[in-house]
Amino acid sequence: MAQLIEQAPQQRSAELERLGHWIGGRPVPASSGRYGPVYNPASGRVAREVGFASAEDVDAAVQAARDAFPAWRATSLSRKTEILFRMRNLVESHRDQLARTVSAEHGKVESDAYGEVSRGLENLEFACGVPQLLKGGFSEQVSTGIDVYQIRQPLGVVAGITPFNFPAMVPLWMLTNAIACGNTFVLKPSEKDPSASQLLARLFQQAGLPDGVFNVVNGDKVAVDRILEHPDIAAVSFVGSTPIARYVYQHATANGKRCQALGGAKNHMVVLPDADIEMAADAAVSAGYGSAGERCMAIATVVAVGEVADPLVEAIRARLPKVKLGPGTDPEAQMGPLITREHRDRVAGYLDSAARQGAQVVADGREHELYRSEGFFLGVSLVDHVTPEMDCYRDEIFGPVLTVVRVPTYTDAVRLINQNPWGNGTAIFTRDGGAARQFQFDVNVGMVGVNVPIPVPVAYYSFGGWKSSLFGDLHMYGPEGIQFYTRAKVVTARWPDPGTSKVDLGFPRTR
Ligand code: NAD
Repeated sequence: MAQLIEQAPQQRSAELERLGHWIGGRPVPASSGRYGPVYNPASGRVAREVGFASAEDVDAAVQAARDAFPAWRATSLSRKTEILFRMRNLVESHRDQLARTVSAEHGKVESDAYGEVSRGLENLEFACGVPQLLKGGFSEQVSTGIDVYQIRQPLGVVAGITPFNFPAMVPLWMLTNAIACGNTFVLKPSEKDPSASQLLARLFQQAGLPDGVFNVVNGDKVAVDRILEHPDIAAVSFVGSTPIARYVYQHATANGKRCQALGGAKNHMVVLPDADIEMAADAAVSAGYGSAGERCMAIATVVAVGEVADPLVEAIRARLPKVKLGPGTDPEAQMGPLITREHRDRVAGYLDSAARQGAQVVADGREHELYRSEGFFLGVSLVDHVTPEMDCYRDEIFGPVLTVVRVPTYTDAVRLINQNPWGNGTAIFTRDGGAARQFQFDVNVGMVGVNVPIPVPVAYYSFGGWKSSLFGDLHMYGPEGIQFYTRAKVVTARWPDPGTSKVDLGFPRTR
């Protein structure tokens, strides 16, 4: 990857690297003449520019994917697995480069970026098991001399549209299974941190993936809209905010495409009076401020039940001065900046509205010295006595602002969560197994943690929320990902004796 070249904010020059697309196995400059800035959020400087695709650029990527499809589809499972396995090893040996690329453009600290790469690696490992995953069913002698079996076949060209907050992991959520199942792929990553996808594309090429199987187009709404209407794209996977997820789902399905669109979140962490308060406070701080709160599985709201509220808020508050802010390159930093200045200021605005609407701002991240730097930093912020009508509860803040809602009983806690329009993740902290089991039964949320604050499923389960956190039927990656990227075919067969045998004394092997 090209080196980081930094420019003062708003400044452009001929030397600034301009990232284009990756189509048919090679870098292709953007043809539209439209570009967007890619910042180093820790310094506030423009590190490079990214070309925004025209509809014609998207068409070229789809054409490359279309051309590559017949041969890739016909490639044996053994050969596909070999390539995926080599890619798995390449991602592992390029962990440092991937993590640094993610950290430089997203701003998350490197330890966090390494975590993201590890979770992406898990998806590659899962996809290496595709021969097992694609096994169908077989019924012998359903009628005299007749057998019936089901096979799963790829859809064709499929597309993925991804958010800024996991620039390596979320593309890997999608494309590993899509490619393993025999599809070819067009990725439209976030324009805010596009370099990780290009690095993945180069590594896939090194692993032996044929040109055109994986393509990357950078861009904005123009590229997304062309993907949604393109007649040769069979399916669209989307991850991003709820309004865009809803838009993508409506348009993709109206155009006859299969679609899974994962949206935003507001994740609650319930703390029952019997919980270990120190453990709950550690979890709330880790899950509330990790990645500066820019995770769809971040804890946004602690729901403190009964008398646990005062000691819990105090335990969280006491931990805040120890959270070290800094750039990703600082090995001691635990939390980096936000993605853009505009987003940082929007997040900080919730501290004002919370105070205005009657909440108590226990810690205000604007008091941190890095808030006054050129980087997009905001310190850890804690808001207590929040109620469901307040903006800081109603909106997805997506920043390091942890809110606390106090409720009298367990029933009130569950009612609060079930009335919330989102249903991505939630967690309960308790020592009472019966209460935890009841919570898992009662709560209308797709991913539940029991004394685990960020219950992101491992790669062999599937990831997805309920309600406004997911539009579509199937969750992402894992077994439901395989289902999403294939369609079933049932064959009813009767055979005369084929008589096609020959002598071969070699030990049978796959070809
Ligand atoms: P976003 O919705 O702004 O962008 C997501 C993608 O949509 C990007 O590729 C972007 O270029 C594109 N896009 C943006 N505006 C568009 C428009 N008007 N028309 C068409 N396409 C458009 O999301 P983001 O800010 O990049 O990411 C943060 C959001 O993603 C949060 O809401 C977070 O909760 C959500 N998220 C959800 C999950 C999940 O699994 N549910 C995972 C990660 C992030």
